[in-house]
Amino acid sequence: MDIRVGNGYDVHALAEGLPLWLGGVRIESENGCVAHSDGDVAIHALCDALLGALALGDIGKHFPDTSAEFKGIDSKILLKRTTDLVHEKGYRIGNADITIAMQRPRLAPYIMSMRETLAGVMEIPVSAVSVKATTTERLGFVGRGEGCEAYATVLVKSENESFFEK
Ligand code: MG
Repeated sequence: MDIRVGNGYDVHALAEGLPLWLGGVRIESENGCVAHSDGDVAIHALCDALLGALALGDIGKHFPDTSAEFKGIDSKILLKRTTDLVHEKGYRIGNADITIAMQRPRLAPYIMSMRETLAGVMEIPVSAVSVKATTTERLGFVGRGEGCEAYATVLVKSENESFFEK
């Protein structure tokens, strides 16, 4: 049995009139993320954590923001492709824990929907996906509503020997 952990971090600027997507869910908001993709900061942190767990680089390497293929792309597709890559390497996702920092809107009403959505894409139980939301008490760029950020930690596991020892 081989178990590995990974962490991911992402940040996006917010601008008025753009759609806001977090954890694969459309959020009712005046502001959305400025991004090449749909700007789902939570999924981007999650993908980076999964890639990090297997030392496979980062989301920018796998899904470059200079590529027309990824312009406006639904980040759930990026998470699906990342999940497939983890499986191809002989690993299963154990659990994921995500923290989103955003001053407003309140994300509490969307947490369960995000957990269900992410669990579905990663093919793991909802109980294995945690999504937490916090403000930054009006401090910093998040607190001023200029942007939002997300942190993710994941565990991946394999019944095989370490992928690095093969
Ligand atoms: Mg991003």
